[in-house]
Amino acid sequence: MTVQSLWAATARPAPALYALEGERQCDVVIIGGGYTGLSAAHHIAQSGRQALIVEANSLAWGASGRNGGVVSPKFRVGFPTLMARFGRDTALQMYRTGYDAVDSLVQMIETLGLGEARLHMGGHIAAAHNAHALLGLEATADWIRRETGAASSTMISAGEIREMTGSRLYAGGLLTPKAGGIHPLDYARGMARSLVERGVDIFVDSPAEQVRHEGGRVIVQTAGGRISAQQVIYATNGYSDQTRVTDTLHRRLIPFRSAIIATEPLSAATLATIMPGGQVCGDTKRMLRWFRVVGDRLIFGGRGAFGQDDSARAFEALQRSMGVVFPSLRETRIDYRWSGLVAMTLDYLPHAGQLDERSFYAIGYNGGGVAMSTWMGRQLATMTAGQPVKLGLLAGERFKPIPLHALRAPGVRLAAGWQQFLDAIGR
Ligand SMILES: Cc1cc2nc3c(=O)[nH]c(=O)nc-3n(C[C@H](O)[C@H](O)[C@H](O)COP(=O)(O)OP(=O)(O)OC[C@H]3O[C@@H](n4cnc5c(N)ncnc54)[C@H](O)[C@@H]3O)c2cc1C
Repeated sequence: MTVQSLWAATARPAPALYALEGERQCDVVIIGGGYTGLSAAHHIAQSGRQALIVEANSLAWGASGRNGGVVSPKFRVGFPTLMARFGRDTALQMYRTGYDAVDSLVQMIETLGLGEARLHMGGHIAAAHNAHALLGLEATADWIRRETGAASSTMISAGEIREMTGSRLYAGGLLTPKAGGIHPLDYARGMARSLVERGVDIFVDSPAEQVRHEGGRVIVQTAGGRISAQQVIYATNGYSDQTRVTDTLHRRLIPFRSAIIATEPLSAATLATIMPGGQVCGDTKRMLRWFRVVGDRLIFGGRGAFGQDDSARAFEALQRSMGVVFPSLRETRIDYRWSGLVAMTLDYLPHAGQLDERSFYAIGYNGGGVAMSTWMGRQLATMTAGQPVKLGLLAGERFKPIPLHALRAPGVRLAAGWQQFLDAIGR
């Protein structure tokens, strides 16, 4: 089985980057070269401070180079639920944060002139997999209309969703126009290229192996070098198990494998029926399936294998799922398949905070971090400048280590099996 991503096959070349050798000094050292780290570096550089990134592998090797590229303002937890649990003001703040996140991504692309990110704000369709799920989407649409006065998401009927997606599977849906898609790897590479042009150092193949505090500075040690900084940012998300330096963050996350397949080029006739309006679409199943057309291919994503490695069976299951949503694609060849780790948290929300006076982090995007991690990078820049940020439910104080973390893998497997069962029986 060849595992290669459509993004790696179609991206512009990465800027030339090298491993760290020798000693460096900077204001803020950032561990992790994905969107969170790149966005933080951009905003720190804009404020006139010196940032430096160390990445354990290649640039955007983690989720940022492998994701579905879906840009959306939504969280995994619905607004009616947030309001019931935390009150109206908090739910409204979260609503605004979701849209701020989308704005920060759009702004990043415009400010840096990242045409290669191929941002297309065609809208997002949440597709109800049954009548019960449709009620949930209606509750969200009602909540948005009632509490915000905006029509930022509107319901679409079963007939409309059939026209818009080309699938007969859905009971109706929720359309959010301010959403869309990007080329995820080129977005990361574009940010990196701009940073390098502005003199920000990015070192690849340089895992941070040790972090210690010494004489009022933070010292980050890699195999080939040493960085002395005033502050450190951890931007390692679902890959916080690469070395021991992020142990304390890793214990707050449940990494979960998510997989994607991309079809062979589809005919013009097929493309005229599948997502002809250029939206991106995700369903309402607990084990979410999502899809979008990129160029002349359909890409289709969902849960991957349970373990650390890819499995042929997980990709076959995904292909079967695609055949259920689009029966006309049952015999279609799959040209690309790949996967990555999303970082789940116990409350299904991302968090940013401080571990101590000089150490900051933003992690736990729960599979929805393309826009949010860009926004979090800006918050991290503000936090490291000693200025206040309004994180609400995303604040680190609410983010605790997961009890019995060592048992999480079998626990996740059990939970995922149960969720799949509920999906299968239509609950
Ligand atoms: C398959 C898949 C599909 C997804 N689809 C979507 C989507 O369509 N829309 C959406 O909004 N979100 C999606 N996501 C989630 C989104 O990609 C992530 O939330 C986002 O990329 C997180 O960015 P990040 O920079 O925080 O982390 P990452 O991009 O994961 O970067 C973390 C980096 O830290 C590095 N690192 C770890 N330890 C060290 C160390 N000790 N020293 C140096 N470097 C280290 C890793 O090598 C890694 O490159 C998806 C995720 C996956 C896996």
